[in-house]
Parts: sequence; structure tokens; C-alpha cells
Amino acid sequence: MRLALDEATAAVQGGDVPVGAVVLAPDGTTVLAAGHNEREAGGDPTAHAEVLALRRAAAALGAWRLAGCTLVVTLEPCTMCAGAIQQSRVDRLVYGARDEKAGAAGSLWDLLRDRRLNHRPEVIEGVLAEECARLLTAFFRDR
Ligand SMILES: [Zn+2]
Repeated sequence: MRLALDEATAAVQGGDVPVGAVVLAPDGTTVLAAGHNEREAGGDPTAHAEVLALRRAAAALGAWRLAGCTLVVTLEPCTMCAGAIQQSRVDRLVYGARDEKAGAAGSLWDLLRDRRLNHRPEVIEGVLAEECARLLTAFFRDR
């Protein structure tokens, strides 16, 4: 999560909301990929931290299936990212702050634990949540 927080901080330089993500290999310690929001920087509506990190992890592994991997992200994923997480087959999602306005991993929706879906990763929330939320609060206050 510390690495994800560093990524989140980097997003601000491009004018993006500070959200950062890392993908850990099945060993739980090797960092396969990282990403931060680049929607403003890249003019891409899908360039959320999670999507970029998942794409880079798949490229690093040479396969789309990220079974055994863990995605760590500073903010609860939105519906698009929860969908991407589900599609990637990661085993575990770890996130920091809840997103009460758009979260799809427990707040507004709980897509990843929907029993109708065939792949349901483990979800661990609240890791360094205050630090993750503080970055976001500071970003929006400065705007
Ligand atoms: Zn998202």
C-alpha cells in the first residue's frame, strides 16, 4: 500500500485525482506493475490506476489471466475497475479508502462478492485508509 500511495502522489503531477495501484505477483511480494490515474494526463476516460496496473501486469506476465495475483489500490474501485478486476481473475483486492459515492467493492455496489459471478476475489479493505483518504481530501481542497 505504501507503493500504491507513492503512485497516487505521482498522479497529481498530471492533474489527476491521486489514486495509485500496484499488482503483486502470486508470491505476494514481487511487484509486477504499478499505475496511477492518467485520465487528464492521457485524455483517456478508462485510464484509472487499476486498469493501467492490470494491463501492465498482464503485459509483464505475457498473459491476461492474473490468477494468484493481488491488486492493491488506494481507493475503492469504481464499477469499471471492479469489472476489470473480475475479468483479470486476480485472487485478491486490497484497498485503502472507501468511495461512498462510486465504490463498487462494498459501498454503492459489491460487484466482486456478487454470488452470480463465477470469479470472486477476496476483498480486504481499510488498509492505511486514513492516509489514502487524506491524499484525496487535500487534492480536492486545493482545487
Ligand atoms: Zn475505476
